[in-house]
Amino acid sequence: MKRSAPLLLALALAMPALAHDDHKHGHKHPHQHAHVHGQAELKVAVDGGRLDLRLESPLEAVLGFEHAPRNDKERAAVASLRKTLAVGEQLFAPTTAAGCKLAETRVISDVLDGKPGAGEDGHGDVVAEYRFACAQPDKLTGLEARLFSNFPKLRRLDVQVVSGKGQTARRLTPRMRLLSW
Ligand SMILES: [Zn+2]
Repeated sequence: MKRSAPLLLALALAMPALAHDDHKHGHKHPHQHAHVHGQAELKVAVDGGRLDLRLESPLEAVLGFEHAPRNDKERAAVASLRKTLAVGEQLFAPTTAAGCKLAETRVISDVLDGKPGAGEDGHGDVVAEYRFACAQPDKLTGLEARLFSNFPKLRRLDVQVVSGKGQTARRLTPRMRLLSW
C-alpha cells in the first residue's frame, strides 16, 4: 500500500519511541518541556487499521508524586500505575465497531526508571504508547478517553490527531471524553 510521505513524517513525529525501535539512548532530556499539573497530552495517529496513541502526562496527575519511590507505599503506587497503564484498552476505547485490539504497549518514565539526572527539577513525566490494530478501519471514527476515571487528578487532555483527513487539535476533560476524527 502506498502512503503519502507527509503522513509518514507526521506519524514519525507523533510517535518518536515507536518510530525508533531502539529507545535505549542514555542521555537525559535537558530540554524536556515544563509540564502543567493536571494536564496531559495525547497524540493520536490513525493510519488505515493502525491506531497509535502517545500519552504524555505529569506523574503528578497519574501518581500523585514526581520522584522515584522512596518507601513501600510509594513503590506500591508505582507498581499500581504501571499495571493500570499496561491495560491500554481500559484507558482508551476506540470505536467499538472498528474491532480494535491492543497490539503493543510501551511505558517510559525517566524518573520511575531511575535514570540519572531525571527529576532533578522536581518534576517528572510518564509516557505511555499504545498501538491498536483495527479489523474494520472504515468504522474507526474516534475514541473515548476513559483514563479520566482512572486518574481523578487529570483535568485536561490536549489532543493532536493526525489522520488521512489531516491534523486537528482537541481538548478533552473529565466531562468531555469523546474524541472523534
Ligand atoms: Zn510536575
